[in-house]
Amino acid sequence: MKRSLAFISAFLFVAAPNSTQANDASPAKQAAVASIDRQATDMAELSDQIWAFAETALRETRSAALLADYAEAQGFEVERGVAGMPTAFVARYGKGRPIIGIMGEFDALPGISQKTQTTKEALEEGAAGHGCGHNLFGPASLAAAIAIKELIAAGDLKGTIRFYGTPAEENIGGKTYMIRAGLFDDVDIALAWHPDYEVSADTSGSQALVGFSVEFRGKTAHAAYDPWNARSALDGVELFTHAINLMREHVQPTVRMHYVITDGGNVPNVVPDYAKVWCWVRDSEHTGVDELVKRARAAAEGAALATETESSFTIQSGHYGMLVNLEGAKLIHENMVWLGPVKFTEQEHEFAREIQRETGVEPTGLRGNLEPLDLTRRAPEGGSTDVADVSWVVPTLYLLVTTAAHDAPWHAWPVVATGGMSIGHKGMVYAAKALAATMVDLYEKPEQRAAIVKEFEEQTKGFKFKFYIPEGPPPVPHD
Ligand SMILES: [Zn+2]
Repeated sequence: MKRSLAFISAFLFVAAPNSTQANDASPAKQAAVASIDRQATDMAELSDQIWAFAETALRETRSAALLADYAEAQGFEVERGVAGMPTAFVARYGKGRPIIGIMGEFDALPGISQKTQTTKEALEEGAAGHGCGHNLFGPASLAAAIAIKELIAAGDLKGTIRFYGTPAEENIGGKTYMIRAGLFDDVDIALAWHPDYEVSADTSGSQALVGFSVEFRGKTAHAAYDPWNARSALDGVELFTHAINLMREHVQPTVRMHYVITDGGNVPNVVPDYAKVWCWVRDSEHTGVDELVKRARAAAEGAALATETESSFTIQSGHYGMLVNLEGAKLIHENMVWLGPVKFTEQEHEFAREIQRETGVEPTGLRGNLEPLDLTRRAPEGGSTDVADVSWVVPTLYLLVTTAAHDAPWHAWPVVATGGMSIGHKGMVYAAKALAATMVDLYEKPEQRAAIVKEFEEQTKGFKFKFYIPEGPPPVPHD
């Protein structure tokens, strides 16, 4: 998923860049940023390899191994295959508190393979592609963790750094399984970032989501010879989706509902006795989603009754909406003000403009400047992430950095194109610096940590985490 501020209002709080801030940065912070500069070539190589592997959810074997091996070579203690997922891992360094965790994703999206060029052309027809920039996400977070590790090793910072290699964000949400396995239990503060077409300390949050499937079972027969003997499972699916589509009129404007029919029979002359629909429902809060699931269950039962079929309803995934930590956002914003804008070349802007012209978007190029900090709490725009689940367990800091042409379609070829070349690399290096600099503050300033934790504790008072994901191990494919 990716988040983005869609507009800027007059009410936004703007932290003015301070020319003396560069000198104010602690030696450790300066060293962390210098470490990222030293790692930049390695980061580009790692991200380009993951971009080329383009492995989808829970199949990210080579991508995960690449990052885990790299972390190990840098002196981290790496535990692989955690939480029942072969591609999930935790890399640890240091001891004692604070324990700061940083998350990295690396899964691709099916069917959007693309070359690093400004027109749509698959690198490999039908293959997957990094249309959400996760090839950049993992290496940037790991580089930031390495910068902190170096400072701990040198005795300049005290505590523990952990990198979480988190698979399957685009599908089942690997982080939720890692939470259930207790892997975040002792973490003081967690961080993540996401590729985007803007640079910001994100406060827009993300939607709560539940993913479920409904299977219908009927009776088969020849569709022309004796259709009266059949009861079509596809009819059940069609009536169910019709109910969902009528429901759209009678839900809050914040609701999103979308589905695909994954099984609708094989050939028209056989009445299908099995059909399946895969559906996601979202709203700003999990309470809203709970209500939608209840109504969808009733729609499934009603569709089965009317079509004389049987339905079964299975919840597959679910995430909370993001708990935005405003104290954390202020700290990230200060650090990004200190870093300055992401500097793209005219050639890179032109590359982005060509993509924008190609996709019918205003050719404005890339947005490298930091967006103003918005401290208003409001309903999130569309989109969900498993980072949000972590945000309800551990105070979580989240930032966005430009890696793609502004407003060009996301989860689509333009993002794959810019994520595999210098535009993506620059955003990735910037993200690593912003994360590393922010983490240095977290280690050096206990009062800063306390303010973030205090806000988190106030927001989660009385909250009990409920897992939407099904019981048992994650659905790891064995093909
Ligand atoms: Zn994403």
